[in-house]
Amino acid sequence: MALSSYGAEQLSTTDHLARSIELAAEAGGHGNRPYGAVIVAASGDILAEGRNEVAATGDVTAHAELMAIQQLTAGQLAGATVYASGEPCPMCAAACVWAGVARIVFAASASACAAVLSEGPRIELSCADVAGAYVEVEGPARESDAVEAMRASILTPTEQT
Ligand SMILES: [Zn+2]
Repeated sequence: MALSSYGAEQLSTTDHLARSIELAAEAGGHGNRPYGAVIVAASGDILAEGRNEVAATGDVTAHAELMAIQQLTAGQLAGATVYASGEPCPMCAAACVWAGVARIVFAASASACAAVLSEGPRIELSCADVAGAYVEVEGPARESDAVEAMRASILTPTEQT
């Protein structure tokens, strides 16, 4: 996936979360569960983006965070920050630990996402429970924006690209 620079020089946590929410809306518009993620190096460089592609690919592990992580090497991931539109599930949170990322920031909590997505399992372990001993975990940070985008993308599918 081509990387966006969001058209700005100095990008903030808010900008990266907004991009993860955009990616979530794209995923939802294409019939996948509406989740997006962006990985940013400590230097501020945007390293990778991911959208949930479970429905599109049939790969049940094609969560947004893993789609982004799989584009990068261990060297690139070390010390990076993962920005996610929704609180990473235990699989993705553990992948962040294995990857050596320094920080996870998520927009909407798992419980807020579950309120939008009626189907699917609801795993009670939080991202901080799984990764918190190794990774700084922050969130929810932009919950209402993320929830609104998730809901809208489900209700208004876009053309498959
Ligand atoms: Zn996940």
